[in-house]
Amino acid sequence: MRNDLQRAPGPGDIVRAGLCIGCGACAGLAAPGQAEMGFDEDGLLRPRADPDWMASGPPGFTSICPFSPRAADEDRIAAREFPRAPRHAASVGRYESAWVGHAAEGDFRLRGSSGGLVSWVACELLDKGLVDAVVHVVPCEQPRQEGRFFAYRISRSVGEVREGAQSRYHPIELSEVLRVIAREPGGYAVVGIPCFIKAVQLLRRNDPVYRERIVHTLGLFCGHMKSAAFTESLAVQIGVPIDQVQAVEYRHKAEGRPANWYSTRMRLQDGSPRTGDWWHMADGDWGAGFFMAPACNFCDDVVAETADVSFGDAWVEPHSSDWRGTNVMLVRSPVIGGLVERALAEGRLALEEVDDRYVADTQAAGLRQRREGLAWRLARRRGLVPRKRVPPDAAAPDPARRRIYAMRQAISRWSHRMFRIARASGRPWIYLRWARASAALYHALAYHRGRLGRLVAWIESR
Ligand SMILES: Cc1cc2nc3c(=O)[nH]c(=O)nc-3n(C[C@H](O)[C@H](O)[C@H](O)COP(=O)(O)OP(=O)(O)OC[C@H]3O[C@@H](n4cnc5c(N)ncnc54)[C@H](O)[C@@H]3O)c2cc1C
Ligand code: SF4
Repeated sequence: MRNDLQRAPGPGDIVRAGLCIGCGACAGLAAPGQAEMGFDEDGLLRPRADPDWMASGPPGFTSICPFSPRAADEDRIAAREFPRAPRHAASVGRYESAWVGHAAEGDFRLRGSSGGLVSWVACELLDKGLVDAVVHVVPCEQPRQEGRFFAYRISRSVGEVREGAQSRYHPIELSEVLRVIAREPGGYAVVGIPCFIKAVQLLRRNDPVYRERIVHTLGLFCGHMKSAAFTESLAVQIGVPIDQVQAVEYRHKAEGRPANWYSTRMRLQDGSPRTGDWWHMADGDWGAGFFMAPACNFCDDVVAETADVSFGDAWVEPHSSDWRGTNVMLVRSPVIGGLVERALAEGRLALEEVDDRYVADTQAAGLRQRREGLAWRLARRRGLVPRKRVPPDAAAPDPARRRIYAMRQAISRWSHRMFRIARASGRPWIYLRWARASAALYHALAYHRGRLGRLVAWIESR
């Protein structure tokens, strides 16, 4: 990071620079009552504390914040954690083996968002006594009182772990569970998106207690993190007031419906379900970047390169069309590799071995955004410029791709503002009209869709 400060950055500097992902690692290390995590006006989680603490953070802050300029990068962390992993690719980092498939045992697959492998591995670790608890994300029982729909929880039984199945596109943070891990001895497995797993690995590098107790890390591939306003927007478009929503299932599976046609189901307080197709939502195209956390613009890890094992969706045919869901999985730890190969031989998993090129193909759009797109954004960045593994390069993508990256960044930035304006004025249509127009322009640029798209294609062909 090009650092214009005369001192090492603290949490306040990371927040002001738009680089805080709200992981809660800093607040988790604060003395009791000194700092907490809370939502900002855009529905993103941020550390909150007095100005002195925000200027410096807890001891060692610059080594544990995943977006700190002084923290080890993903390559260094992976080299230390997985020194014997025999394979390496710039797209997915180090790995021992790569797989495509799903859990064959029980109903893990149908209950999971994808092929159910995350919950299966977490349960297997507990069942084989390799960990005492799994740290993962579950629905909050009282979302209105708790002010959020999901939170990290420490689950100690297979039943509890299975309650956490499914992906949550909603801000969550680690501060509370990190305090419990520091207090309560035992072996823990932590599930998280790449930047959260990076924060956990940085904590493990810096603190022997976390190193000893967090014995496994399970990473989720990540396109980006959304603000809480995304869920609010889905509720508006499904036609329910957000304060009547009791539970959210972002990816409701339905027989015969392709896995990549997302449908969200909300359960209201009276128990009735309401469902909405992302296809019909103004902001339902994930690639357009609506409500993306600003820090995600400066991330270069799509596949949780620092996790013992990481999981994504197999977004290639025939798997994208299979409504039951299919994972890709990268194994980096020999212990997890052993569990997987034994279960495969016993028929408890249905997997085929693949390589990094296969996995990279399933994440082609995410990798473009976080490689050539990131190089372009870094070259344009002013103020605090994070140091990434991707070097800045203003000329990298061609003009058409530059327009797409610029449009995506503008949609991300303006979606927060427009939703805030719409909410404050009680006129959701202000946001929705803007979102539909923005999505149409994005689709014209990215896919040459519609009349505008044909015009863009014609101009680009000149
Ligand atoms: C914000 C986000 C973005 C993602 N982007 C992509 C992407 O671009 N490409 C891709 O291939 N896959 C992406 N994934 C991963 C994908 O959605 C699935 O989670 C993954 O394939 C595992 O599916 P599964 O059926 O094996 O997991 P399941 O068996 O359904 O288990 C999921 C586990 O993850 C935990 N969990 C859910 N949400 C979160 C969260 N926000 N933070 C931490 N833990 C959580 C649950 O508690 C549960 O333990 C993303 C996930 C998230 C949360
Ligand atoms: S990214 Fe995490 S550790 Fe860094 S300032 Fe934000 S909450 Fe704290």
